[in-house]
Amino acid sequence: MNTITVNVGGILIGGANPIVVQTMCNTHTSDVPATVAQCKRLAAAGAQLIRITVPGLQDIPHLKAIKQQLRRDGVRTPLVADIHFSSETAIAAAKVVEKVRINPGNFHKDHEEARRQFARFLEVCEEYGTAVRIGLNHGSLGAYITDKYGNTPEAMALAAMEWVDMCLEAQFYNVVVSLKASNTVVMVQAYRELARLMKERGVVFPMHVGVTEAGNGDSGRIKSCVAISTLLAEGIGNTIRVSLTEDPENELPVARYLADRYGRPHPGKNCLSPQEETILKAACDYGAPLLNHEVDDIPLQDEYLKDEIMQACRRRFYKPEYIACPGCGRTMYNLQAAFEAVKSRTSHLKNVVIAVMGCIVNGPGEMADADFGYVGEGGGKVTLYKGKEPVKRHIPEEEAVDELVKLIEESEDIA
Ligand code: SF4
Repeated sequence: MNTITVNVGGILIGGANPIVVQTMCNTHTSDVPATVAQCKRLAAAGAQLIRITVPGLQDIPHLKAIKQQLRRDGVRTPLVADIHFSSETAIAAAKVVEKVRINPGNFHKDHEEARRQFARFLEVCEEYGTAVRIGLNHGSLGAYITDKYGNTPEAMALAAMEWVDMCLEAQFYNVVVSLKASNTVVMVQAYRELARLMKERGVVFPMHVGVTEAGNGDSGRIKSCVAISTLLAEGIGNTIRVSLTEDPENELPVARYLADRYGRPHPGKNCLSPQEETILKAACDYGAPLLNHEVDDIPLQDEYLKDEIMQACRRRFYKPEYIACPGCGRTMYNLQAAFEAVKSRTSHLKNVVIAVMGCIVNGPGEMADADFGYVGEGGGKVTLYKGKEPVKRHIPEEEAVDELVKLIEESEDIA
């Protein structure tokens, strides 16, 4: 798909440029040495853009220090600030880093005020040459959209188009758009609709493509590959992130595999094991035919791999559907260990969606259609959710997995 080209600190996204591979730090932004060290590892592992969460204005000095130290040490990888809710923080970050990711609908409860703040933010980005990602996720669309359009892929695309139109009116073109979801069917449909609507406008911004809260291990890789590969094969997607609830370095070989398979190969060799490559290849080969309902079965001898791919495409469910965020600088507990513990205690269940989320600020909103949620509060405490309702709060972490299992077992809806 023909998109315009966006320049993020010298990294070109869209147009005829190769697919750009990116990831995100999971260190605390206030821990400058740890974040600098992780950025260096990620850059060395092939990240072309690195995102860092900026929870509030108090983190702007840390963001500045991280960037200064990286540049001083010769690491030139452009940085992306990840901002939620606060346009003031987004504006401050736009003066520091090469790109800022925001969901403008969350800037303010009053929608007109959110629009005013977004317009001001764009002015600052224009002045500083900062690129923008308009990043909306399924599950956190905001009432103004769900009341109007429902909670569908089409609603996601329409919600994004409001901000895209504002960029066009302001003649601000340094924009990338994303519409992530953990549900692969929703995600693929949302991007297709977004691409169609932007084409209708006559200006197609590059798209950042990813499956959010994909989880970890083979399942997380397969879920990401089936959906991202489906879109890349259609020419949708100019930069990608494979979100895994693992160390972010692990995301990069998977993203590189996808970028090389569907774009111009990056120089150098990818460092996948033959087994990992077999899994990714099968997910890419069979993802689109299953998601598009062109086939109902796939000719794989390996039953485990077949089950995983079928479930990733939401064609057959053989275990719980897990939603787990990758964690970021907002995570205040050992998310990876908690997710493993939840999986090991619930893997026998079927027809249930279980979310494990890294923070109480965004986690509940991002859980989308989960039946049960395990959300870290920080301070060694966890809140458990049934659907969208918090049903048990402030549970000590050591008891939280037991309490979650009890909650699921007590539920009449779960077979
Ligand atoms: S839900 Fe997870 S990835 Fe999203 S902001 Fe919270 S900790 Fe970070």
